[in-house]
Amino acid sequence: MVKKDINIVIFGSTGTIGINSLNVIRNSKTHKILALSAGKNIELLIKQITEFKPKYVSVSNKIDKIELQKKFNEIKFFDGDEGLKTLATLNNADLIISAIVGFAGFIPTYYAIKNNKKVALANKESLVAGGFLFSKKEIKNMIPIDSEHSAIAQILQNRDKKTIKRLIITASGGPFLNYSKKEMENITKKDALNHPNWSMGDKITIDSSTMVNKTLEIIEAHYFFDLPYEQISVVIHPQSMIHSMVEFTDSSIMAQLAYPDMKIPISQAIYYPEIENFSYESMDLTKLVNISFIPPNFEKFPSLNFAKLVIENPKLGVVLNRANEVAVEAFLNDKIKWNDIYKTIKTAIENYNLANINSIEDLKKVDNEVKIFTQNLIDSFQK
Ligand code: MN
Repeated sequence: MVKKDINIVIFGSTGTIGINSLNVIRNSKTHKILALSAGKNIELLIKQITEFKPKYVSVSNKIDKIELQKKFNEIKFFDGDEGLKTLATLNNADLIISAIVGFAGFIPTYYAIKNNKKVALANKESLVAGGFLFSKKEIKNMIPIDSEHSAIAQILQNRDKKTIKRLIITASGGPFLNYSKKEMENITKKDALNHPNWSMGDKITIDSSTMVNKTLEIIEAHYFFDLPYEQISVVIHPQSMIHSMVEFTDSSIMAQLAYPDMKIPISQAIYYPEIENFSYESMDLTKLVNISFIPPNFEKFPSLNFAKLVIENPKLGVVLNRANEVAVEAFLNDKIKWNDIYKTIKTAIENYNLANINSIEDLKKVDNEVKIFTQNLIDSFQK
């Protein structure tokens, strides 16, 4: 029997997840790159186009599109939001990898899902900001790439939701796990970008340092596994070897272990339900002598409290997400202090109580309002 190729579209191909996805697909005999989308790293995009020969490519800017079109006349180029929408709904696309960072990733996720595409989701912000715009059935078409959710999805295969007591999401705790409150007042960009275990993009690395990443992941888990806040717990596990656990109603706990390398959850998502042979070294279990678990500290990392708030009032997700994005960018540009990230989100959430959002257009409008509000707020901090 001749199997048809699986056609893949990658959104965010020049980011960390995009690059790792291409590494996973590079030698595949069954999976082909149909389309790539990237933002501003045109130099790397050109290398990817030359190697993977997609039929369609979308970029952020029109000028880049025009230049690229001159260089590769056999490929169709697109730009902007329309480009993202076009690639997400290509007729012969079998799997969409949604790996643009931030709310920008919502557009391809949304249109792909609404067109019955299977989506491997790395862009957790899509679910946090607009998860309530998807039905439970639509969310079943999403496969998690986030390592914790990938672990839980692996554990839950063929299990009824009724058998779950709670999900136990593991967190490394980030670089400031053992900082005192006093030490947390003077955190520098260099400190915050230095994650102990994972090598990731700047935005998620800062999110890990504030634990906003875990907040987003609790909300992401709520949507993925259709469970209330009370059934989703977090435990600090500084070694990042157990990627999450599930406790069942008989109090037995199952854990998933792997080296902290995103190629593993990416491969799980791309080849699901198959498991691809990988030439990885096996984990040396005898070296895991220091596996430990610590409760999360909600007082030192108060952003964790936003998870409950958003799960109970899902329309606040877009506020949490955008305020955090603006604050992280301001921190990376040396405009605010690390502690101000929390203050920014808190103030934004307090200012938007119930947003009236019933469509993607409404969501984009509120997202933009929060962006302006938060930018003004940050300007007021500096004075
Ligand atoms: Mn994660």
